[in-house]
Amino acid sequence: MIPSLLPTYNRVDLAFEHGQGSWLVTEGGARYLDLGAGIAVNALGHAHPALVAVLTEQAQKLWHVSNLYKIPAQQALADALVDQTFADTAFFTNSGTEACELSVKMARKYWYDQDQPERVEIIGFEGSFHGRSSAGIAAAGGEKLTKGFGPLLPGFTHIPFADLDALKAAISDQTAAVIIEPVQGEGGIRPVSDADLKAIREICDAAGILLIFDEVQCGMGRTGKLFAHEWAGVTPDIMMVAKGIGGGFPLGAVLATQKAASGMVAGTHGSTYGGNPLACAVGGKVMDIVSDPDFLADVNRKAGAFRQGLEGLVASHPDVFEEVRGTGLMLGLKCKAVNMDVLAACYDAHLLCVPAADNVIRILPALTIEDEDIGAALTRLDQAATAVEQAVEGNTQ
Ligand SMILES: *Cc1c(COP(=O)(O)O)cnc(C)c1O
Repeated sequence: MIPSLLPTYNRVDLAFEHGQGSWLVTEGGARYLDLGAGIAVNALGHAHPALVAVLTEQAQKLWHVSNLYKIPAQQALADALVDQTFADTAFFTNSGTEACELSVKMARKYWYDQDQPERVEIIGFEGSFHGRSSAGIAAAGGEKLTKGFGPLLPGFTHIPFADLDALKAAISDQTAAVIIEPVQGEGGIRPVSDADLKAIREICDAAGILLIFDEVQCGMGRTGKLFAHEWAGVTPDIMMVAKGIGGGFPLGAVLATQKAASGMVAGTHGSTYGGNPLACAVGGKVMDIVSDPDFLADVNRKAGAFRQGLEGLVASHPDVFEEVRGTGLMLGLKCKAVNMDVLAACYDAHLLCVPAADNVIRILPALTIEDEDIGAALTRLDQAATAVEQAVEGNTQ
């Protein structure tokens, strides 16, 4: 019989009752060190006092009003994002996949208004992830996401990861835009090099097409800059944001230049909940904290320490791990052992990591992780790796 909860997740037998910083605690009081942070969502950890304060304060006043009315906290967050990024304008969603929907609509509407309505095609990269909506799965294209779901939203093509020649060859007079994650998350923590990201921008400029960055996972301070593309010194025309921006409250956004957004006039798009007062109260506070240069400097310092520790871990467990991947606090361990076995050993060591494609386990801690918790994480990863080695030895004897 089908469970009362639609079984689309293979859930671990763990439930948490509360959280504090980088720690999650079960009903029975067992403490787990959280290196997943809700898959890069709890950017400021669990129960951050400043976020609890703004959320509860807003909850006493007003939960929801329609976007028929002005929402001051939404306006303030848009102003802050425009002030701190390439963007001239922002639209708020509840999730990353809704940000994908709007990004695709915006790119197509732009060309429609340029009297080139045949330009509908969007070029994406293999191994990417843009969410589970119809546009999201069509944009990413992988069989795991699309198989069995009938005709896909038309107008998407896919090329190998960061393959510049394939990109040039794929562009035609029907191309509207290119969509890319500056650092692939679900695909296995695969950063696009700064040089390649620059080259992709140049190729799009030469062809006159739009460039969409999906920074749902790699944005909001995760890589040590407010947005990952800042490392490469290039900007997109449209950008998807979600996950970390709400610090755990559902919130996403599409940021865009004036030019790219020019077709999105009144009545062309909307959302009931998008940019709701509760979400924007929290998002505004997250933005205040994460965009502070001192905060980002600290993320970079911690990232350096964590990475160095992980390099040591890989060196001492060459049968379990192959390499460290990623940038900032968006890290991955490419495994030689089966990643799900390593993950299970982490659970036994009361450590939470997240699997990804390409036999990787992801390490996406709260950006606020304490130095001593980085130490504890490395100790527990070492325990988990040792347990995996012993299990392999046990099997071969
Ligand atoms: C998680 C993710 C999405 C989808 O976000 P949802 O909020 O789950 O819809 C899109 N793109 C990337 C890169 C993601 O990591």
